[in-house]
Amino acid sequence: MPAAIALHNVGKVYGPERSQVAALQGVDLEVAAGTWLALMGPSGSGKTTLVNLIGCLDQPSRGTVAIDGTDVTSFSRRQLTRFRAEKIGFIFQQFHLVGYLTALENVMLAQHFHSLADESEARASLEHVGLGDRCDHLPAQLSGGEQQRVCIARALINDPKIILADEPTGNLDEANERIVMGLLADAHRAGRTIVMVTHDPAVACLATRRIQLRHGRIEDSNVGKPLAIGVVPQQR
Ligand code: ADP
Ligand code: MG
Repeated sequence: MPAAIALHNVGKVYGPERSQVAALQGVDLEVAAGTWLALMGPSGSGKTTLVNLIGCLDQPSRGTVAIDGTDVTSFSRRQLTRFRAEKIGFIFQQFHLVGYLTALENVMLAQHFHSLADESEARASLEHVGLGDRCDHLPAQLSGGEQQRVCIARALINDPKIILADEPTGNLDEANERIVMGLLADAHRAGRTIVMVTHDPAVACLATRRIQLRHGRIEDSNVGKPLAIGVVPQQR
């Protein structure tokens, strides 16, 4: 099986020539399929930049990016959009739900961009995250924890191989953090590869592998302690 994610010598600079920011510098990273990776590091260290490159939302300034065995480095915007819809589900700290669409419609929108909207599948996905009775609510009528569960339903609806979660519990209280982490653990058990950005060492310990970024470089691979109870290690 190809690596789920393979980055070689990846660099990313932002901005015009005279005021460039080097967000990533010479990053090499291989993530085996089925890994639950926690990405840690101080603010500004490049975590979101790295997640955006893996998620085909952006392209590197140098180096190569391969996802599920496909080198996407020289893909066009259109190819990246197609590839992303097939392979990747996103969960963001700020949820990014469409405010004038119901929970159900937000999930169906993701189906629409992938292939065809299917209401009964979308309902089943919301039931899976415990929101079967919230399908017709707008995001503003849902708590933060409920909104993040809609996002998880949306991320899972097209059966992506890879889930990218950028500080998924950053805006949640402890009880909702537990629910969200439980759903990520389910997704991991179902065989998905997960890349999760977190500041919280306790959250990171649920992952099967941890890396630490600093100033755009991988400073430490597999930081921290192994595993909390109930999560089976698959890959380092
Ligand atoms: P993190 O997610 O670890 O906080 P980011 O990847 O968001 O870090 O940012 C890494 C560096 O790149 C920071 O110095 C940030 O200011 C800069 N940066 C991020 N996105 C942009 C952008 N779109 N334009 C210019 N600079 C950016
Ligand atoms: Mg960030």
